[in-house]
Amino acid sequence: MKYLGYLIKQKCVDGAWTPLKASKENLGFSHLLFADNIILFGKVDPAASEAILEVLGKFCAESGLKISLEKSHIYFSPNVNDSLKEEVCDKLGIQEMHDIGKYLGFPFRHRGAPRNPYMFIVEKVTSKLAGWKAKYLSFAKRVVLIKSVMSVIPTYVMQGVALPVHVCEKLDKINQDLFMGLHNIPVKSVLADRGINCDKACPMCKLHEETIVHLIRDCEVARDLWCKLGVPLPHINSFNDNFVNWLRINSLRTATHNTHIPWCMVFLNAVWCLWKYMNNVVLENSVPNSKLDKFWLGQAREFHFYVSKINQVSSKISIPVRWNKPSVGGHKLNTNGASIGNPSKAGGGGVIKGCCGVWVKGYSRAIGYTTSVLAKWWALRDGLILAIQLGIN
Ligand SMILES: [Zn+2]
Repeated sequence: MKYLGYLIKQKCVDGAWTPLKASKENLGFSHLLFADNIILFGKVDPAASEAILEVLGKFCAESGLKISLEKSHIYFSPNVNDSLKEEVCDKLGIQEMHDIGKYLGFPFRHRGAPRNPYMFIVEKVTSKLAGWKAKYLSFAKRVVLIKSVMSVIPTYVMQGVALPVHVCEKLDKINQDLFMGLHNIPVKSVLADRGINCDKACPMCKLHEETIVHLIRDCEVARDLWCKLGVPLPHINSFNDNFVNWLRINSLRTATHNTHIPWCMVFLNAVWCLWKYMNNVVLENSVPNSKLDKFWLGQAREFHFYVSKINQVSSKISIPVRWNKPSVGGHKLNTNGASIGNPSKAGGGGVIKGCCGVWVKGYSRAIGYTTSVLAKWWALRDGLILAIQLGIN
């Protein structure tokens, strides 16, 4: 191969072969040799083709090697006219190509090449994912899948080139969706990808493909409902962010809705309600609800006041309670009942004491299968009946 390089260099020195230059001041380059691959660069003219033929002919004759013309191609600069291209191709016996394609897995960038030469990485990752039933994987297994398989595929190309931002974002999104299981939500685009014959269009707006992000955020029906709900100012920009960021920002930050309910609570409730609502409209032909935003708020409010406040520490006033003796001539009945579960096996009992706290009568019994509240009532009833039997009014 060194000899071939020497022959090419000779022709360049003679002036028969004009090397290519990236700019006027740069050094020219005439050839690249890697393993048994050769890339030759030169100015297109019949004399240069002659020089190439001569060099290759001499090299083949002396080394005993042969050039595969079927596997060889010529890429012309866009300024070369067609008749010259034809002449050169005929002379060398090699066909013209418009897209150089990939070399050792790296796509060449040049005029006429596909606009997104790195999309093949996204396709490769997606096709790899298709073989995995991610919904059956635990979170830990998904992390392993992402780290060991999905992240490794782009690494090879990334050794040599910086991938465009949009490709990195797509890859990130695939991994995030895999991690969160979003690609398993059976929206129409997912069903179609699984080979189910269905129209991918969103049944609400009929304008866009039905993806999960479209359905619960980007569809005009969903946008309209979010507007009515009143998104707090600091969160409005997140509605143009990617899906995972949008979910994260709105479900974690602590902005407050104009109803004084934490926004994350309103937001998560709204996402769930919107998903159910879209399903009902599509699957059960239910009538679109124009007051849905009010319904969402009602639910969020209920959750906020009844559930989320349980764990809050409230200011407590301690009231000392003690048993007091009944007044002279009087009696006191104390009862209680309880159950193991609600409802479950229950029991109850009580004591009757006279003045000065003198023991009069006690009782207890298994009540049967009931709730704790009813057990308390039964215990009270037993106590009252016992008091009547004892002649206590
Ligand atoms: Zn839509």
